[in-house]
Amino acid sequence: MKRIGIIGAGQLGQMLGFAGQNLDVEFVFLDPSPDPPASVVGPVLRLPFDSDEGLRQLASDADVVTYEFENVSVSAIERVCADTIVYPPLDALRISQDRLSEKQLFESLQIPVPPYRTIDSAQDLRNAANDIGLPLVLKTRRLGYDGKGQAVVRDEADLSDALTALGGSNLIAEQWVPFDCEVSAICVRNVRGDVLVYPLIENQHRDGILIISRAPAEANGLAALATRHLRQMLAHFDYVGVLTIEFFVAGDQLLANEFAPRVHNSGHWTIEGARTSQFENHLRAILDLPLGDVSPVGHAAMLNLIGSMPPKNLDLGSDTIFLHDYGKRPRPGRKLGHITVVASDPADRDRTVTRLSEILVAQANPTGIADCIDLSG
Ligand code: AMP
Repeated sequence: MKRIGIIGAGQLGQMLGFAGQNLDVEFVFLDPSPDPPASVVGPVLRLPFDSDEGLRQLASDADVVTYEFENVSVSAIERVCADTIVYPPLDALRISQDRLSEKQLFESLQIPVPPYRTIDSAQDLRNAANDIGLPLVLKTRRLGYDGKGQAVVRDEADLSDALTALGGSNLIAEQWVPFDCEVSAICVRNVRGDVLVYPLIENQHRDGILIISRAPAEANGLAALATRHLRQMLAHFDYVGVLTIEFFVAGDQLLANEFAPRVHNSGHWTIEGARTSQFENHLRAILDLPLGDVSPVGHAAMLNLIGSMPPKNLDLGSDTIFLHDYGKRPRPGRKLGHITVVASDPADRDRTVTRLSEILVAQANPTGIADCIDLSG
């Protein structure tokens, strides 16, 4: 039986652990939190993510090491896990940690990005506002996630406050993209180089946090273009594992926003909505097993449950609605679980999503859903 070491024991680790129940594998996690979601699927080494002792123990306990979030120390992993197989490749992790190197990589691979400038001073920001125009989005280069570490600047009077709020340097100013929609593209590549691509996913965010994903996306006509971009990235890194790119759709253009070298929140629907989930396929990829079929089994939607969970006895009234509770303590803005709906056609799916949203907003009021679904009708 193979042992997989995972840095991070959050909900992504938990779902990887559940997916591993179909395979002959065991897990060990590294996470300092007292009661992380993945503790239900394997032992957790309760040490900091970048501690030499924790990483050494994880590496010695595991045949292959992977990670479930990006903000882990690449240099610590390189130092301690020199003789360990780590997938996805650490180069992908390193580049994904810095928005500037991420954009430079996209550009070098001819993957279009929104116009941007690097910002290290007030003068840089004034120049950027002149060059790329307002509104713009100011973002920290490192450690931003779920809309944290960014500010939308609508007029010149706000430039200085935004700059101060984000620390004044090591920033990126990006043109505000009046996108038609946002999509993510998820693919998987195993050690022997087989590649499969899930259908394109349409995502709705509120305050930078993902609220709803639908797949296959209406914009699935852009799937071939997205696949071309994914393949450029896979080849560049000689990549192994699940890889996600998030894009803005503007007409028939895809503008890359960011990539994640890991399983992704916008792919949770694949647990029930695809023949093989992104989680199982990530494990298959890093173990060099044949990949599983990525075809959808219908039309799926996923609603993130943020800040509060519905009551335990909530009757969802259908066997095509699946509630996932990560077992986390409620806190404002925290992802506590998600619900997936699978239907035979998009209209049916969207009716169920609206009905479900009404129930959720009435009973639990998780953040964001009411802003993303029109409940007025
Ligand atoms: P990010 O942390 O870069 O993924 O940004 C989170 C969300 O903020 C995105 O999914 C978009 O909804 C929004 N956003 C970020 N950058 C831009 C942009 N340049 N133009 C328009 N919306 C953006």
